[in-house]
Amino acid sequence: MEQLEPFREDTRSWLEENCPAGMRTPMTRDDDVCWGGRKFSYQSNEQKLWLDRMAAKGWTVPQWPKEYGGAGLSRSENKMLQQEMSRLGCRAPLTSFGIMMLAPAMMKYANEAQKREHLPKIARGEIRWCQGYSEPGAGSDLASLQTSAVDKGDHYLVNGSKIWTSYADLADWIFCLVRTNPKAPKRDGISFLLFDMTSEGVSTAPIQLLSGASPFCQTFFDDVKVPKENLVSELNKGWTVAKHLLQHERNMAAAMGRSGSGKKKPIEQVALETLGEVDGKLADAVLRQKLARFHIREQAFTLTMQRVGDEMKAGADPGPASSVLKYCGSETNKERQELNLAIRGMDSLGWEGEVFDEGRVARSWLRSKANSIEGGTSEIQLNIIAKRVLGLPMNS
Ligand SMILES: Cc1cc2nc3c(=O)[nH]c(=O)nc-3n(C[C@H](O)[C@H](O)[C@H](O)COP(=O)(O)OP(=O)(O)OC[C@H]3O[C@@H](n4cnc5c(N)ncnc54)[C@H](O)[C@@H]3O)c2cc1C
Repeated sequence: MEQLEPFREDTRSWLEENCPAGMRTPMTRDDDVCWGGRKFSYQSNEQKLWLDRMAAKGWTVPQWPKEYGGAGLSRSENKMLQQEMSRLGCRAPLTSFGIMMLAPAMMKYANEAQKREHLPKIARGEIRWCQGYSEPGAGSDLASLQTSAVDKGDHYLVNGSKIWTSYADLADWIFCLVRTNPKAPKRDGISFLLFDMTSEGVSTAPIQLLSGASPFCQTFFDDVKVPKENLVSELNKGWTVAKHLLQHERNMAAAMGRSGSGKKKPIEQVALETLGEVDGKLADAVLRQKLARFHIREQAFTLTMQRVGDEMKAGADPGPASSVLKYCGSETNKERQELNLAIRGMDSLGWEGEVFDEGRVARSWLRSKANSIEGGTSEIQLNIIAKRVLGLPMNS
């Protein structure tokens, strides 16, 4: 690391010069997250400026190769960059399904022309992606999906419907699983297609969550023409691509369980600020014990995430262990939200009005209930752990 000290110096001074003041404050609201894309409403000029400056350096995806919009940084350099960003309190310039889910699958399975076409636009936050996997009759049993893509010579004709498509109404492109061989066994007749959401025949209808927010849609495809060059990997080999992407999705979802991640204040701090302390301790002994138990679990989980994250940066595939992280991460976040409610008492159930911060606590609590459904349910993760991690005998 000593040899890298000049890099640290350069990074520090660049960040000090280029990170706008408003991008050095903690993110406290969903709107603070920059998702990019053609339809994104930037919260401020500073948010856009920060994205553009970081993208120009290749630092929205620091370890990606330069030809795909990254900076080609080594693991150690990236670690230094992250350290320097957190020292200054810099916000993440860009968060996207493109970076976290699609790109790892493209890096492995897309051809060179596809990588050069799509990855730089993801890195610069120009194109926002959504995930077209689940269908009304195919969620946990994803391989039963029915959306069809029929070979029409120079293009595929796509018909069908996807459901729970997060941010489909805000996304520019979709990565989509389609059935290309209805006669083959379920998993052998699926392909992985990319297409523009502005293509003729694509429409979306928002669906409301329990929390009152509407972050996802049902998505309809009615004779959508998709150029053949948008097929990733081989025809009918989409299941392999889909599974690889899912492992990255599960790791992304698992991050919600980490302590101090994103916009979350440590729960112990919330307890002390809300309930006060007596002799340096929380007065409520039962709550104190619950918080201590939670804190230990959260720390153990955070360290495991770090270890797996380091292994992945070193080139290891996350494999089925990503199901362990997804399961623990979503259950941890649900428990955190339950504790948050217990600490704040009845006031936390306020739903509207400034005094209740427009129901932020209650809405986050309700939103967390979806954590053990999105990205594959907890039951399905436990099945995968039993079968692929522990090697237990299973019926299917
Ligand atoms: C907030 C949110 C965002 C989402 N975003 C997206 C997205 O962007 N794109 C996308 O494609 N999908 C998305 N999804 C869909 C998500 O992947 C599915 O909801 C999930 O895979 C479960 O499928 P399902 O809803 O059809 O439930 P089902 O599969 O019908 O499951 C119903 C219940 O049965 C249980 N179950 C089913 N099979 C088994 C089994 N074999 N063993 C034990 N229990 C079983 C499940 O655990 C669950 O409790 C999102 C979901 C949510 C909640």
